[in-house]
Amino acid sequence: MAGTALRRRLTWRPAQLSAVRQETPTARTLTLRVDGWAGHVPGQHVDVRLTAADGYTAVRSYSISSAPAEGELEITVDEVRGGEVSPYLVREIAAGDLVEVRGPLGGWFVWQPQSTRPLQLVAGGSGIAPLMSMARARAAAGGGAPTRLLYSVRRPDAVVFAAELAGLAAPGSGLEVSYAYTRAVPEGWPRPAGRVDAALLAEATWPAERAPDCFVCGPTGFVEATADLLVAAGHSASAIRTERFGPTGSTS
Ligand SMILES: Cc1cc2nc3c(=O)[nH]c(=O)nc-3n(C[C@H](O)[C@H](O)[C@H](O)COP(=O)(O)OP(=O)(O)OC[C@H]3O[C@@H](n4cnc5c(N)ncnc54)[C@H](O)[C@@H]3O)c2cc1C
Repeated sequence: MAGTALRRRLTWRPAQLSAVRQETPTARTLTLRVDGWAGHVPGQHVDVRLTAADGYTAVRSYSISSAPAEGELEITVDEVRGGEVSPYLVREIAAGDLVEVRGPLGGWFVWQPQSTRPLQLVAGGSGIAPLMSMARARAAAGGGAPTRLLYSVRRPDAVVFAAELAGLAAPGSGLEVSYAYTRAVPEGWPRPAGRVDAALLAEATWPAERAPDCFVCGPTGFVEATADLLVAAGHSASAIRTERFGPTGSTS
């Protein structure tokens, strides 16, 4: 049985784009319908393969941003300027088009929605994608885990899922969301633009004494800097799970 499940995960399967949603000027969410898709665990990703008419292929990884559901998944792609695949996924692919996916993949950067342990999420840019899957799954499961999300973005119009996050973080939800703006801040924002530092972490995240499960996701430099700050703040390295959105993939 385990062998069958593994084979299914590692097999390329057709995925039809059923809907696209523009999230920010540079990011889109793609809803993919996959026959036989059995759902995923929040935090997992898929490999996406594109094949051109001449047989040229490109493969990239994308975290699943939706809560687990059978038959369907969503990925949220932010365009990397000069990139090969993300500009196509953000600007060109249209509902009805077919790609291939392989997955769900990943067994370490995952969160079980029935957990009630304190949860600390830290996102940098498009690193919000798998953490959004966790936040959505948490709400669907009744919101048992007291949760804080610190979300670092360049500027206010780059915040993905802004309205939905505000709803998920309604009073009494047990979810608190804080933002760090690195290039431009909203009017009246109490701090200047800048990167996440020890002072902001101390203000916006669970103290180490609460022993939260920490999930940090984003570009490689952001993840490494943030994980170092969490360890310096007293969190156990083994409680910090990281996912780096550094360049991966292949072309042939
Ligand atoms: C496990 C995993 C999950 C991921 N999930 C997501 C996701 O949910 N959403 C998302 O938008 N991306 C995600 N990524 C990143 C994604 O796989 C691609 O790397 C990204 O879309 C760029 O691909 P590209 O073909 O456009 O650029 P490429 O043609 O591969 O690269 C072009 C240029 O951009 C640089 N570059 C590549 N990737 C990045 C990056 N992420 N940040 C900054 N510079 C980069 C390269 O060094 C190169 O100079 C994930 C990566 C991993 C490993």
